[in-house]
Amino acid sequence: MFIGNEKCVPSEKKIWLSSPTMHGEELTFMKEAFDTNWMSTVGENLNVVEKQIAEYVGVKYAVALSAGTASLHLAMKLAGEKIYGQTEYGKGALNGKKVFCSDITFDATVNPVVYEGGIPVFIDTERDTWNMDPEALKKAFEIYPDVKVIVVAHLYGTPGKIDEIKAIADAHGAVIVEDAAESLGAKYKGKETGSFGDYNCISFNGNKIITGSAGGMFLTDSKADADRVRKWSTQSREAALWYQHEELGYNYRMSNVVAGVVRGQIPYLDEHIAQKKAIYERYKKGFEGLPVSMNPFDGDNSEPNYWLSCMLINEDAMCRQVMGESEGLYISEKGKTCPLEILEVLAKHNAEGRPIWKPMHMQPVFRNNPFITRSGSGRGMTNAYIAGDYEDVGIDLFNRGLCLPSDNKMTEEEQDMIIELVRSCFN
Ligand SMILES: *Cc1c(COP(=O)(O)O)cnc(C)c1O
Repeated sequence: MFIGNEKCVPSEKKIWLSSPTMHGEELTFMKEAFDTNWMSTVGENLNVVEKQIAEYVGVKYAVALSAGTASLHLAMKLAGEKIYGQTEYGKGALNGKKVFCSDITFDATVNPVVYEGGIPVFIDTERDTWNMDPEALKKAFEIYPDVKVIVVAHLYGTPGKIDEIKAIADAHGAVIVEDAAESLGAKYKGKETGSFGDYNCISFNGNKIITGSAGGMFLTDSKADADRVRKWSTQSREAALWYQHEELGYNYRMSNVVAGVVRGQIPYLDEHIAQKKAIYERYKKGFEGLPVSMNPFDGDNSEPNYWLSCMLINEDAMCRQVMGESEGLYISEKGKTCPLEILEVLAKHNAEGRPIWKPMHMQPVFRNNPFITRSGSGRGMTNAYIAGDYEDVGIDLFNRGLCLPSDNKMTEEEQDMIIELVRSCFN
């Protein structure tokens, strides 16, 4: 197998998919927490980051939490209680109820549905933005008309078709939990993602566009909802002299030290987006003439944050490849390639790529959950095949797509090397 050309020297330092990019002020604010002894889940950094992120995204309230997943969990609990009433003791807020979920996403979008006792129903992906397909969502409501909660993610920082999804949700009286963990700073029709849902979540995990090393936020325009999430996140303590608890609590509040890191990062969010956009555009130009396309977005209506650059190999340029549960196999072929071959070549040159997030309906943990495509076909509750003109977009994107090294500290020379390596795979 031919894996490169002479111009390409293996890079000594690793080129990451997406790693933290620090600037210095983070340390100042962390030290401030230390010096003032606010080494806890209370302090100035927390107050400031909540205010700044709420302003940036254009929502009234932000609640800083320990993780994006914590935010999604409490959002699910709120959604469940809003629709189905107070959580019964010992049960989840979504107790046995179905929830429509994005299918190609990180599993943190979906796990909180199950934490609250809900049943994820996966909605297939559309090809225009690689997000939840509104057509498949309509079909899902035909099959499961009683569903009242939808969780929708914006994959790789590209806004989904949120207006269409909202219109369908409104027609069915369903609430939307927006998972903007990957898309902070991305806009749809001039408005920030993370402001469209009834309950909105972002993440400051280490690989996101800005980071706190960890952390997340719950965003909303409702003071009552923000207050509930803040209370739940600090063990549901009542205003009493002693520890008084009238409902179940969680230890989900962000640390003031982590908030210091976030505080130092916020001024660089726009710079990070500009760097990621430049990376996307250099790949796009560098791949001209190859039988590939980049992860698509709706340029008329949206501006992604370009968190990860991805590519999709044309069907007729794919060599044979199979992906099992933990291993894959491909057969090299002249003029053709596949994600596994490209990833192998990148890894040999110390560059980190990754397959497209494996669709949730293909995950063993969700093997019995329904999955609905735009033709209405898919998989039902008992894993029975729902007949129809079956096109599974999720599987297709997973087979032919991959995430490219998208670190904003990658140099132009390093990116040129990656472009050359990808090109060499088609020789
Ligand atoms: C990262 C991520 C999350 C989870 O965020 P954490 O802060 O790591 O808990 C949720 N959803 C998506 C789509 C993500 O990419």
